[in-house]
Amino acid sequence: MTYPAKFIFLAAMNPCPCGYLGSDRHYCTCSEKQIKNYKTRISGPILDRMDILLTLNPVSLNKPKLSETSDTLRNRIEKAREYQYERYGKERCNGSASMEELTNSITTSQLEILQSISIKLGLSNRVQMKIIRLARTISDLAGEKNITDEALAEAMSLRKIKANTTFRKSSMIGESLQIQQKGLQ
Ligand SMILES: [Zn+2]
Repeated sequence: MTYPAKFIFLAAMNPCPCGYLGSDRHYCTCSEKQIKNYKTRISGPILDRMDILLTLNPVSLNKPKLSETSDTLRNRIEKAREYQYERYGKERCNGSASMEELTNSITTSQLEILQSISIKLGLSNRVQMKIIRLARTISDLAGEKNITDEALAEAMSLRKIKANTTFRKSSMIGESLQIQQKGLQ
């Protein structure tokens, strides 16, 4: 291995010590204090460095197959990588693009909304950048030239930010984000 090395770090944890919090089949036997203690074992600075935070629900084997196949997904990813190549003029992904390169495709009002939410929730600059990177990638995968409001809302939901509570008194963009966010939950 040579350093610096590029790698993808994936980690998983149970929702609570017994593992059944949120399950509709099993009863969670943990107390609130136990759950809180369990969750604080992962420190804020560690979570801050994660790009995506997801809650996964159990999937039944009888569930219908996903509508998108691996082949169509691969095509979308290849196209997204082409857009990134065209945008940055070299082999570079959104994950390593500079702040300036990324903010070229986000509007001032989108930035303002992100900043006001970040102040309310105390999000670090690092997390704000991650949200913009994610929104840029989601927009690339959808074939959008600029970062869309929907992509921004989806990126926030991937950081477990509930936009429907924070956008309530926002502008029209905020309202559209709120609607999208509801659809994602
Ligand atoms: Zn439990």
